[in-house]
Amino acid sequence: MTTATSDHRLNRPRRSEPEVPTHAHPTTDALPAPDTRSRWKRAVMVWFDSTASASGAREPSRFVRAVRLLPFIAMHAGCLLVIWVGFSWWALAVAVGLYAVRMFAITAFYHRYFSHRSFRTSRPMQFVFALLGCSAVQRGPLWWAAHHREHHRHSDQEGDLHSPRLHGILWSHLLWFLQPENTGTNTKAVPDLIKYPELRWIDRYDGVVPLALALAMFALGWSIEALGGATSGLQMLAWGFFISTVACYHATYTINSLCHVWGRRRFNTNDDSRNNGVLALLTFGEGWHNNHHYFPGSARQGFYWWEFDLTYYVLWVMSKCRLVWDLNPVPERVYKNARGG
Ligand SMILES: [Zn+2]
Ligand SMILES: [Zn+2]
Repeated sequence: MTTATSDHRLNRPRRSEPEVPTHAHPTTDALPAPDTRSRWKRAVMVWFDSTASASGAREPSRFVRAVRLLPFIAMHAGCLLVIWVGFSWWALAVAVGLYAVRMFAITAFYHRYFSHRSFRTSRPMQFVFALLGCSAVQRGPLWWAAHHREHHRHSDQEGDLHSPRLHGILWSHLLWFLQPENTGTNTKAVPDLIKYPELRWIDRYDGVVPLALALAMFALGWSIEALGGATSGLQMLAWGFFISTVACYHATYTINSLCHVWGRRRFNTNDDSRNNGVLALLTFGEGWHNNHHYFPGSARQGFYWWEFDLTYYVLWVMSKCRLVWDLNPVPERVYKNARGG
């Protein structure tokens, strides 16, 4: 889902384009109405270039808004391919493997690294992290981190973009990022990331990695079939790309929706964040969300040995291999403030 617009809600112009006025403007009113072909061209452009915009057009357009949602809808519709292509152990294994890699990439890299800088790494590894995160088809690292930092700034208060308390479960689960005002990247929220041209590039062309992954899945299935394996290109595309991605989507979204309503609260935070062991299993540690809201700077979110946090265990192994370093620990004072601690 690659989309773009200026960020009206935050009232901040995007870096690379002027803010689009929300009211009628004499200059834009004077423009001729775009013909159907150019409307489609402009709308489809935003799938491939997240900075492409309808600015300067006669209308920011419901049409463009609708077209930019199509890839997200298509991702779900693509799961229906399974009715025609069926099941194989090959396809299931690849789907589970890619779920695991990409869930890890979202929690370890997009969340704990890009959004919270809770550990350090080299610049080449940082780019690899961005590519892996982008393969989860949840937009680019700058967009993801900028919106997530906004969530921590306002958690469940006015200004929080996805609060179940303010907007309801469905909004906090997925409707929030489908809104035109939330499709732009507020670059002011990520000054530490925007300085890297390679990150800006991947954030702008955030459809490149997903497209490559989809093609790779088809090629993988086709190759296995050619070698005598019981699968096919389309079957691998359905399981390895569509089903795996949609499963990873909704598991990730539960942290914004369910993890603010379902679970226990160890810390007295100003929001509704909860600790939830089931969601922590599904999301490799993200379910310890009340812990995380209390102390977001830590590389670990399961603060105790019995709080399963697969992401932290893998990061710890990566730190032993010197791929990452300076994992931020949980300070002693945090344990002192824990309920019952
Ligand atoms: Zn939260
Ligand atoms: Zn966070």
